[in-house]
Amino acid sequence: MTAYERHPPHPVGGTIEVIAGPMFSGKTEELLRRLRRATLAKQAVTLFKPERDNRHGTTDVVSHDARRQPAFAMANAAALEAMVEQLIADDQMPDVIGIDEVQFFGEKIVDVCNRLADCGIRVITAGLDLDYLGRPFGCIPLLLAHAEYVTKLHAICSITGRPAHFSHRMEGGSEDVQIGGAESYQALSREPYNDVVVRSHHRVSPAE
Ligand code: ADP
Ligand code: MG
Repeated sequence: MTAYERHPPHPVGGTIEVIAGPMFSGKTEELLRRLRRATLAKQAVTLFKPERDNRHGTTDVVSHDARRQPAFAMANAAALEAMVEQLIADDQMPDVIGIDEVQFFGEKIVDVCNRLADCGIRVITAGLDLDYLGRPFGCIPLLLAHAEYVTKLHAICSITGRPAHFSHRMEGGSEDVQIGGAESYQALSREPYNDVVVRSHHRVSPAE
């Protein structure tokens, strides 16, 4: 049992929240909003992001509308957990932990979030529910299942103006992960997205 698992549970009780949606849907905005409110309530807040998200050349978490908050950039889920253990050992146990771009942490983050919530921490995660090919992204399906609270957000479709659920990669390669912003991705609603991406449920020939 780790040091923080032995820590007396926070009286309020821990939970996992997931804020999911495509790019530009306001996930980071919403995460920062919840963290600001927790800070107003005088709760100790710690924000994490994956090291590989280097879009802003800083360890801040930055939203597309330029809101920002300092964060710890972590290599992986184990490093994130070790950092929380260290905070607790230093008597700085967070009441609330935010994790932005949680889809990049891999499946181990699900156990870590559960352990953090078990010891009484409110864990608020934000991440892409689908990758650029419309496939469930990494750890997100598991995290959605484990979470007490799930919020799905939508962007504005750049073709139809309707709610957009998909992140279309307009340029670049076919790597699973390609960090980018408005220069490489656009938010699309279902019909325009289906026009540009063939997905696994599509019937590719009439015989099927
Ligand atoms: P996410 O973290 O989901 O990528 P952010 O919270 O960083 O989103 O940014 C949301 C902001 O992005 C919106 O408030 C808006 O100012 C801006 N934005 C740019 N393009 C779009 C779009 N197509 N739909 C909605 N918001 C957009
Ligand atoms: Mg974001």
